[in-house]
Amino acid sequence: MRLVTQNLLTCQVKACMDTAATPDGGFLSYPLKVVPDAGGLKQVASPFDEGVAKSILPRLDWAALRKTAAELGVAALPEEVPAGAESDAGFLRSVYALVFDIHLEEGNLLCPHCGRAYPVRKGVPNMLLRDDEM
Ligand SMILES: [Zn+2]
Repeated sequence: MRLVTQNLLTCQVKACMDTAATPDGGFLSYPLKVVPDAGGLKQVASPFDEGVAKSILPRLDWAALRKTAAELGVAALPEEVPAGAESDAGFLRSVYALVFDIHLEEGNLLCPHCGRAYPVRKGVPNMLLRDDEM
């Protein structure tokens, strides 16, 4: 599972989906914290596509990506997307590598609100809830 996917996922527990927004407009249950098993985080270089990088940049939740990158120790991102970033090939390349080349193969995604762990096995997150969680 690439970080671009993690950037989109939220906790499926109803109480978390109903969580009131925080003052900064975020949600208490987002982003899910990436907790790799030992050796469960991989970096696999993919060919850079500038068009994809330009289109994905405005769609990313930057604060969530920044937080996740810092927690994983894989990148130190600026607090906000720098002005003119869409025409800065070096910046686009670094963001592209972060969201497409870092893979969680084995581990968990943890909800920061309720603590629910969503297992990731062979790179596939299981976001399904048990019957007693619905
Ligand atoms: Zn939750």
